[in-house]
Amino acid sequence: MPKINILDEFTINQIAAGEVVERPASVVKELVENSIDASSSAITIEIKDGGIPFIRVTDNGEGMDQQDARLCFERHATSKIRSSDDLYEIRSLGFRGEALASIAAISQVEIFTRPRNSLSGTHVINHGGNVISVQEVGCPEGTTVIVRNIFYNTPARLKFLKAPRTEAAYISDLVAKLILAHPEISFRYINNGKAVYHSSGNGDLLSAIISVYGRDVREQVIKIDRSDDKSGLSLYGYLGRPSLARMNRNHQSFFVNGRYVKSSLLSRSLEDAHRSYLPLHHFPWAVLHISIPTSQVDVNVHPAKTEVRFRKEEEVYSLIFQWIRETLEAHPYIPDIKHEV
Ligand code: ADP
Ligand code: MG
Repeated sequence: MPKINILDEFTINQIAAGEVVERPASVVKELVENSIDASSSAITIEIKDGGIPFIRVTDNGEGMDQQDARLCFERHATSKIRSSDDLYEIRSLGFRGEALASIAAISQVEIFTRPRNSLSGTHVINHGGNVISVQEVGCPEGTTVIVRNIFYNTPARLKFLKAPRTEAAYISDLVAKLILAHPEISFRYINNGKAVYHSSGNGDLLSAIISVYGRDVREQVIKIDRSDDKSGLSLYGYLGRPSLARMNRNHQSFFVNGRYVKSSLLSRSLEDAHRSYLPLHHFPWAVLHISIPTSQVDVNVHPAKTEVRFRKEEEVYSLIFQWIRETLEAHPYIPDIKHEV
């Protein structure tokens, strides 16, 4: 008896979906990234009960025609790259053409979409990877994706989700990063009917920061804006005064070419530059946008991970370290001591 089976399509899709969709926050990430790639200027994210029964992302972007609305659920269906040559010059957030296929494989998805200037839109229903219906409908320009009952067909994975409140917290963190990444987009985030964040989309990073952290943060940040012609590297954003420092790294937000990333290299340059500026065990608060020629950075590391790899690590580390250090030195911190009269 041979031992080897060829897996059936359902199983293959479930395995692939596992790479992309870990929890409701991963669905929100993929949907919003698609909205951003579709050049939307306004995106609304609504969730119920941690996103497990209900996620809706509405955008005013390019939309899809009926043919694309059918195709978008196919695995490896993407409008963003055409061949492997494009992998070295990626400008969009997506490019694998796997997200919608993976999300549909583990949930019940509905899409309403209408291209700009098109007379009618398309409504597609897909349950567990199977297209249930495709209809012409009237709907606003742009795209709305509704994802219901994540992991409804894989109870084993449903059990691994945390309480709705915890899943909602992951989504809130993610939306905050998206707002900080895209001051030029107006975001609304609604959790169980309650408005949590609303950013204006006026393009100003500080106003995006205020919509996440509140007005008081304005007096506690230092602007940084530097660039280097030789490497093409530039750094723009805000460093927190010591009053914003925390005992964890939750308030370090790095964006490389507009994409939220976690990078031990960037954290290290930020923290090393703050050495002797902060109390022991405290981590600096920062919202930093790094821009670098696309040929100098590799984003093709893992589908769902937020890691990047820089070609010239040492150069990136030392320029950023030096710029932050110089900025801190130019803005000596004088604690705000309120004098009693
Ligand atoms: P990828 O983003 O890697 O291309 P996805 O599975 O996320 O793959 O999406 C597949 C395709 O569906 C995209 O390439 C895009 O053409 C289309 N699409 C998905 N979401 C939207 C949207 N919100 N607006 C317009 N087109 C979209
Ligand atoms: Mg995508």
